[in-house]
Amino acid sequence: MKIVQVQKQSLIEYPGKISAVIFLAGCPLRCPWCYVPQLVLPERIQKLPEIPQEKVFAFLEERRGFLEGVAISGGEATINPKLPDFVKRIKKMGYEIELETNGTNPEMLEYLIKNKLIDYAAMDLKQRFVFEKWYKVTGEVLTREMFEKIKKSVGIILKNRIDYQFRTTLVKEFHKKEDIVEIAKEIRRAKVYYLQNYEKTEETVSGRQFTPFKEEEILDIAKEAQRYANVKVRRYL
Ligand code: SF4
Repeated sequence: MKIVQVQKQSLIEYPGKISAVIFLAGCPLRCPWCYVPQLVLPERIQKLPEIPQEKVFAFLEERRGFLEGVAISGGEATINPKLPDFVKRIKKMGYEIELETNGTNPEMLEYLIKNKLIDYAAMDLKQRFVFEKWYKVTGEVLTREMFEKIKKSVGIILKNRIDYQFRTTLVKEFHKKEDIVEIAKEIRRAKVYYLQNYEKTEETVSGRQFTPFKEEEILDIAKEAQRYANVKVRRYL
């Protein structure tokens, strides 16, 4: 398990809480627009220095009372078998934990929920549940087995044992209005489903640049999708 970055404070990651964000390297997917290639591509990960866990624990100890939560992000944190032990130690300090996940490890997700090691899950829904569509949006590395696992994770989250959100980053080259409406139908029982626009960044996993939606387009998509689920539009500014 390689910790490569700690954001000391964020009001965005963990809804309603002042939290630190811990970034773990490594991810089995290759979403073309992903803006953190340094956390995804092995040759980039290698170049990043690892932050020792003890240093992270010392920082969290020092911030007790000020920070309310810790968000575990990536990459994909659940690829690390040692994640439960790491999270357990943070929980013992009194922090609430948010996990960001792409859903590829439902066994780990179930374990973390069952053992009360996470309090909030934020799961990416990259497309409607058609294998070929997911295959395309995840950089053509997705297997059918991974796809089934992702669907299983959605089911685990929908059991409602912890607070959660689903979310989709909208990218013109990959999403159409009807895709998002279909996702909303598929998760109609969900507490909340956020739509967020793709933001241009210098680097992406594929090395290519993509196109964000116009504000009015996003609002139009949200309006239609709201007929089926609790859809909200996320704005970062
Ligand atoms: S956006 Fe895709 S490639 Fe990037 S970290 Fe998330 S799941 Fe992995």
